[in-house]
Amino acid sequence: MPIIAISTNKGGVLKTSITTNLAGVLCDKNRVLIIDTDNQGNVLISFGINPDTIEQTLYDVLVDGLDPKNAIINVYPNIDVLPANDDMSFLEFDVLSNREDYPDPFNMLKEAMKTIEKQYDFILIDSPPNLGLVQGNILSYAESVLIPFQPEGYSMRSLIKILNAIHNFKEQHNPDLEIKGVVATLVDQRTTLHSEVLQQCRRFCLENDIRMFETVIPRSVRFAASVAYERKPATLTDMKNPLVQAYFDLLQEVQE
Ligand code: ADP
Ligand code: MG
Repeated sequence: MPIIAISTNKGGVLKTSITTNLAGVLCDKNRVLIIDTDNQGNVLISFGINPDTIEQTLYDVLVDGLDPKNAIINVYPNIDVLPANDDMSFLEFDVLSNREDYPDPFNMLKEAMKTIEKQYDFILIDSPPNLGLVQGNILSYAESVLIPFQPEGYSMRSLIKILNAIHNFKEQHNPDLEIKGVVATLVDQRTTLHSEVLQQCRRFCLENDIRMFETVIPRSVRFAASVAYERKPATLTDMKNPLVQAYFDLLQEVQE
């Protein structure tokens, strides 16, 4: 069963959009669980649910040993969410200030998921925009990681840093973790800067034996509009749209 994390240390680069839209593509034939680990709770928002109204979340699973099945919410046929909300912002502080209660702080997620993971064909993990205890738990549990990359003037430098960080983490904590590849997001093909940075990125990935997906996620208001007006990711509301089709192409590449 694939466990795929969508991770990078930046915000606003489509981590949540990729997670929820891939779930939208997969749910046709697969039972999908999305684990939201970000205190912003944007996965539930993408399905029209306010995360602040949720009593039991991933925080309770990790900190209090709540059985994940008591926190999981079904949001769409074949899509379940293990939700997060603002409680997650206390996780690192609570765990690190009670180290004797949490002897294996990077493996809390992996341990917690054991009872429930077999019920799903795919697990997708949405991540917070930083590297810390939560990201450590994600990368210890995931089998593979997708790294979104928004091409901008300075973004190659930070991509190289995050790839190094993930590579080092893998060597020390999860040697089986597969770096699936880099996916360019919010791309405007007409912008010269984007084309140049993408070319640079492809060259870097090639030289370093990292996959960069051919599929890019274009910049378009369609995706935000789907969430705002139809309370669902675009792959569930507008799958015939050529822009939305990018997520179908991406999944195909990811599964190759
Ligand atoms: P992250 O999870 O990395 O912080 P999000 O997935 O939340 O990023 O996306 C950031 C913002 O961009 C959201 O407001 C989202 O609605 C919007 N968005 C999503 N997909 C696209 C797209 N293809 N083009 C433009 N904006 C998008
Ligand atoms: Mg997000």
